[in-house]
Amino acid sequence: MSEEVNNKEVMKDLGEEKFTKKPKRQNKKKVCMFCADKSKKIDYKDATTLKRFVTEKGKIVPRRQTGTCSMHQRELTTAIKRARNMAILPFKGE
Ligand SMILES: [Zn+2]
Repeated sequence: MSEEVNNKEVMKDLGEEKFTKKPKRQNKKKVCMFCADKSKKIDYKDATTLKRFVTEKGKIVPRRQTGTCSMHQRELTTAIKRARNMAILPFKGE
């Protein structure tokens, strides 16, 4: 009976150790570009800004990579899609 409890304790310890040994991502915390700089506006005509959020292949860079907050990311996607329709950004990278 007591052995079983001990095993559970060991399992718990192992689990916690595993958790703490999880490789920590040491990259600095990213802050949303548009929240950090309030003067920056998301404009579909602003290709230079939009291109920073688009891969070489023309795909929209995911939020976790750019650190953009959900609110601005949504505005960005709309802007990028609009820019594509206006032929400011490519649908597919060359
Ligand atoms: Zn933001």
